[in-house]
Amino acid sequence: MTTTRVEIDQSVCQSARYCLRTAPGIFALGPDDIAGVKDADGGITAGPVDVLPDQASLVDTAAWECPAAAILTH
Ligand code: SF4
Repeated sequence: MTTTRVEIDQSVCQSARYCLRTAPGIFALGPDDIAGVKDADGGITAGPVDVLPDQASLVDTAAWECPAAAILTH
């Protein structure tokens, strides 16, 4: 099973929210309006966070749509 790890370069996030529309189960805005990745404890972090294999394509789509190229996958 291949695991996808996702993180966000919060220094370049423009709060455009495309990632939230594409993958609301994975991304969320923090209190500062900067996007993060939801972690297993319900928090929001810059990552990296492992995502389930069936969510990998959503993450790839979000990374492609992000105008700031802030979403990084490994
Ligand atoms: S799509 Fe990119 S720029 Fe917009 S909120 Fe998400 S990470 Fe930030």
